Amino acid sequence: MIEFRDIHKRYADGTRAVDGVSLSIPESQFCVLLGSSGAGKSTLLKMINGMVEPTSGELLVTSEALNGKTRSRIQRRVAMIHQHFNLVARLSVETNILSGAIATVPAWRIFAGAYPAELRRRAALLAEEMGLSEVQFHRRCADLSGGQQQRVGIARAFLLQPPVVLADEPVASLDPATSNGVLKALRHTARENGATVVCSLHQVDLARAFADRIVGMRDGRVVFDGSPEALDTTASEALYARAGS
Ligand code: ADP
Repeated sequence: MIEFRDIHKRYADGTRAVDGVSLSIPESQFCVLLGSSGAGKSTLLKMINGMVEPTSGELLVTSEALNGKTRSRIQRRVAMIHQHFNLVARLSVETNILSGAIATVPAWRIFAGAYPAELRRRAALLAEEMGLSEVQFHRRCADLSGGQQQRVGIARAFLLQPPVVLADEPVASLDPATSNGVLKALRHTARENGATVVCSLHQVDLARAFADRIVGMRDGRVVFDGSPEALDTTASEALYARAGS
């Protein structure tokens, strides 16, 4: 369970990115943070893995208060899928997926490319689940399409079976058809693993299609919280309306 209790974030330059968010995300939920650019989605997301520290308020991740003492322990339970994939292009798909275990594998194994057999098996299984062929598994990531690269990013995130997976605009650089396939793969794997997913998106149709729950954000505040069915045209228009309109 993830819980935000009256969370605020004000950046050093005075920007109020998150302005009093209280939110409880239960285990195994696929929760989409929906809103336009600058709404505060990314700031909220990055608080869950301790990359951004709240200015005030309390945050619980996997039911434990996130603070200086618990941060590194909690970070091991939270994986991230990035907008621009964050893969090492010249390395193979297999190596990139295995890099999801870097924090738990001795350095000599990483340098020697000698990952434990169990991890290699799981990497291969995840690649297969992501629809990547055996040939692609051994290919350099640079040779894959954007959609395939993001599938590698998803496999890497799930390698250690984390209870929480964050996805920061995971399909922002993909075309609509590819975006659908990638989100479908993400949701499927999350369900198989029982993982809680917090995913930021700016496309209403994708949020409706894939979320269990939509949290609509605007100007650092939650302005909608409900099921995809409850997000009607009026509610979605309110999310994107310009101030004063
Ligand atoms: P979103 O993910 O919805 O696009 P962000 O969380 O990235 O929103 O940004 C929310 C607001 O905070 C925006 O006004 C953005 O410009 C600002 N912001 C984000 N990161 C920083 C930062 N490091 N320093 C100052 N302002 C920031």
